[in-house]
Amino acid sequence: MKFVSTAFCAFLTFTVATALRGNNINKNENDNKNTNEIVVSNARRHLAPGTDCVPFIRVMHYDDGHIEDSWFCEFNENAAVSSGLGNSGSQMIELDVDEQKMKEKGAISGGCLLTVGRSSYIEPIDGDETNVAQKDNVFGSRSQGKPAHEIFVLHISAEEDFHIEMMDEDTDTRHSKYHSKRRKLADKTGDLNTLVVRVIDEDNNVADFSNTEMYNNIFDDAVCLKTQYAGCSHGAINIVAAQNPTSSNTLVNGVVDIQIEAKISEGRQVMQNEATKAAKATFGGTLNDFDLVMYCQPQTGTNWIAYAYLNDSRSFYNNEWCKSVSVHMHEVGHNLGLHHSGILGGSEYADKTGMMGFSYLEDDGPKMCFNAAKSYQLGWYPDAMQAVDPRSLPGGSQSFTLNGVEDYETGNGLVSLRLLYTGATKDGKDYYVGYNRATAGNINELSQAEKNKVLLYQKDSLYSQGDGQSTGISWRMASLDVGESHSWMVGDTEVILTVESIVDADAIVTLTGGVAPVSPTETPTVSPTVSPTKSPTVSPTKSPTAAPDDPTSTDPPTGTPTGTPTAAPTAAPTAIPTAAPTKDVTEPTCLDDSTYRQKDKKNRDCDWLANKGESKLLKRCGNDGGSARDACPVTCRSPCSGLTAPPTEAPVVSPISEDDCEDSDEYTLGGVAKKTCAWMTKNPRDSIRKKRCGKNDGEPMIECPIACQHPACANFYR
Ligand SMILES: [Zn+2]
Repeated sequence: MKFVSTAFCAFLTFTVATALRGNNINKNENDNKNTNEIVVSNARRHLAPGTDCVPFIRVMHYDDGHIEDSWFCEFNENAAVSSGLGNSGSQMIELDVDEQKMKEKGAISGGCLLTVGRSSYIEPIDGDETNVAQKDNVFGSRSQGKPAHEIFVLHISAEEDFHIEMMDEDTDTRHSKYHSKRRKLADKTGDLNTLVVRVIDEDNNVADFSNTEMYNNIFDDAVCLKTQYAGCSHGAINIVAAQNPTSSNTLVNGVVDIQIEAKISEGRQVMQNEATKAAKATFGGTLNDFDLVMYCQPQTGTNWIAYAYLNDSRSFYNNEWCKSVSVHMHEVGHNLGLHHSGILGGSEYADKTGMMGFSYLEDDGPKMCFNAAKSYQLGWYPDAMQAVDPRSLPGGSQSFTLNGVEDYETGNGLVSLRLLYTGATKDGKDYYVGYNRATAGNINELSQAEKNKVLLYQKDSLYSQGDGQSTGISWRMASLDVGESHSWMVGDTEVILTVESIVDADAIVTLTGGVAPVSPTETPTVSPTVSPTKSPTVSPTKSPTAAPDDPTSTDPPTGTPTGTPTAAPTAAPTAIPTAAPTKDVTEPTCLDDSTYRQKDKKNRDCDWLANKGESKLLKRCGNDGGSARDACPVTCRSPCSGLTAPPTEAPVVSPISEDDCEDSDEYTLGGVAKKTCAWMTKNPRDSIRKKRCGKNDGEPMIECPIACQHPACANFYR
């Protein structure tokens, strides 16, 4: 379903966003407001010391352009009930805690446990948050006779010695990675089982999109969450419309309508709590079967667009934003651990080159991906990422070829070049370079700024993580065309990035910085003894007939053998041939080696090779490191076998027969481990599969005829 495509810039530019604007960061300026908002009541409940919850950073996007990061904490059901939260359905509640203390203790959104001490208490609040921003939401009361929903805040005093403890992602069921790991998926790759919840309130208020329209918006439009994640990741990630985990028929094509016991007038947080509770009840008490849960809310207040929790499965959309592909990409990006993309010295999401900047109220666009800093964190391009220390370059300078996201599989350049500095430590930073290729038809064709330029980013690290995986905001520092340079200080070293050329898919850059020190003890550059370059040419075919008198003499032997044969045959031949040979065959002078096994696999002897069909035979006898050719000369029809050699070129039209219609279990494209036959067909888009598989007579087609849908194998894959 197509909607009017309004190129409306949703996140306005005039507000400078504040990173990690937790409650207490703004304590001084907002003190009075906060005090006024929190209903100081006798409803305070102290938590039993040792009670724990999982902290998450919630990133809220307001429609006036500002963003707010605040800590929330999720209690498990038992703790919620014993703390008096159970009946409210409110297991995820806001934290009133010193942001700096959370950081010092190493809190990671979705990856740790917070254990409270003696002084922590929860308290109901009147309004969506303790923050000032929510005040234009009008909070209504519920119909007579129905209990009011409560929402809470958890206060942790500055003096309290609460604990932050890392969870084990392999064993702690509450860790954000636990459920995906159990399905043997990496967190940013693989299938993401995606549930869309269309929330209907008590008064039957619902978003402006039908169930079918929501299916189209997320899974089926020409440009939608599914197509963009698949295209940008080159098939590394696959958004799958969830199917019923139970026998109920409530869920069709990933979208479920759920009526909740709350009114939109009660505000966003009550709507979230009730929607979460009702969704869990619908699916047997847990949503753990789903990797992503996207809640499409009826219009609930007017001041917010969407929000998500970092490293979590949940994201929430306010009515009209349920159709925006860029908001979907952006919020799911937060779920995957990405933070915003800004411009250095400007707004936190002013970088319009990728999806973690501004979003747009468009149903089918813009078609774009993520910037180089996010690309590195996402890890979708494992053989096109490199990290170097710009303060220590060989000879003080190094050149690199960069490719855009589109050309990852066909090019030989880097999609993301990481310049190492202090990014492995909390509050440290690294730099990233990428080429924002955005030509027509490209998956990134509608990047909203700096098209076809080389972009330099600084990325801040929120956590201590050495692998470039830390959540953090990326800041665009420079946008360079051919011949342009940017210089900046990395520590005490001046580093210069210069764009030498941009030709089609390749942008060539030179990085000049510090000189790598020469190692103090020099190792020899050449091995001391040269190995012989040739092996002996021919073994002697006969033993010498007699030892020469003089071992040093070079003369031919002078004598004849002195011995006579030791014995005559002891028996006469038992039979003479009963018939003359029917055909004059050339006697083979070679035999297949019965002990040969291709790649040491048990069944893969010369006979196995012989039965693989002409094209594979040709390949294995020719290209199998020579081992099959040498070990199976008869099968390979080497000249010594007297057989007619296989054709030296594979037939052009259909190089394989139906006998060959079997995917190799060991083939990898270009030798890249993950690029197996199964990988060829992992991306739902036909065009991607075709690009990977290439021509009918090419190697991927012949090795993976089923996955690649070789025309000769149509009977097998249809
Ligand atoms: Zn955001």
